[in-house]
Amino acid sequence: MLKDTLLYLARNQQLQNFTVQNGAARRIARRFVAGEALNEAVEATRVLNRRGIQAALDHLGENVTDEKEARAAANAYIAAIDLIKQSSIDANISVKLTALGLDISQNLCEENLHAILGRANSYPIFVCVDMEGSDYTEKTIDITLRMHQKFEHVGTVIQSYLYRSKKDVEQLITNGVRVRLVKGAYKEPHPIAYQSKSDVDYNYMLLMKMLLARGNFPAIASHDQAILDAARKFV
Ligand SMILES: Cc1cc2nc3c(=O)[nH]c(=O)nc-3n(C[C@H](O)[C@H](O)[C@H](O)COP(=O)(O)OP(=O)(O)OC[C@H]3O[C@@H](n4cnc5c(N)ncnc54)[C@H](O)[C@@H]3O)c2cc1C
Repeated sequence: MLKDTLLYLARNQQLQNFTVQNGAARRIARRFVAGEALNEAVEATRVLNRRGIQAALDHLGENVTDEKEARAAANAYIAAIDLIKQSSIDANISVKLTALGLDISQNLCEENLHAILGRANSYPIFVCVDMEGSDYTEKTIDITLRMHQKFEHVGTVIQSYLYRSKKDVEQLITNGVRVRLVKGAYKEPHPIAYQSKSDVDYNYMLLMKMLLARGNFPAIASHDQAILDAARKFV
């Protein structure tokens, strides 16, 4: 239920505006989002850095249908990269390919991503390509692998609810691409994805061990205490 609500919020601009303007909604969103303006994000990051924690900055929104919006999103990501450098904070950024125009044209999306990675690599600041719904899985992995041949500081996300993920993790490990492992935030159907928490968790543990043993600086992204305890025990 919470998953559905958050996905709906992310896709609905009117509701996003409501979320940042309405006090109660804002408090709920704060559980998931540290700050909606770049300056706020920098301050939130400083607090985390003082506790020895690195932050990931994300520009909210996905599935743009207009080229101008896609280019504006790319510029927002580049501004965030510059600000990370200027503020000397310890942070990386996460980008969504559909925010960069993947639904409009793959060329446009890759052009935007190339510009972001060019700037990020010059500092260098790590960029993680978020994983979205399963319609985008193949393209996200292909684009990340191709960009990684030119830009070392790019990685992507693998979702443990997808049956295909073991093969994808193998391929990313072989190519030295950094992986953030998550359970998956979208609603995916039975033919391609595990449906029960126990199956998703079991696969998470399996993929986590592969990545911790042989991966390039993997990120174990979960709020699940059992998973976090198992990761600590494994390393
Ligand atoms: C850093 C990061 C990046 C992510 N990137 C992606 C991505 O690119 N693509 C994608 O599909 N998904 C992404 N996700 C979301 C992920 O797929 C899961 O939907 C989400 O993390 C919830 O799963 P869980 O591993 O925390 O375990 P769950 O089994 O869902 O939850 C375990 C416990 O944690 C609690 N919990 C769950 N969520 C939160 C929360 N936000 N805050 C506090 N407690 C919580 C639950 O109440 C439960 O008790 C990301 C998550 C994180 C943390």
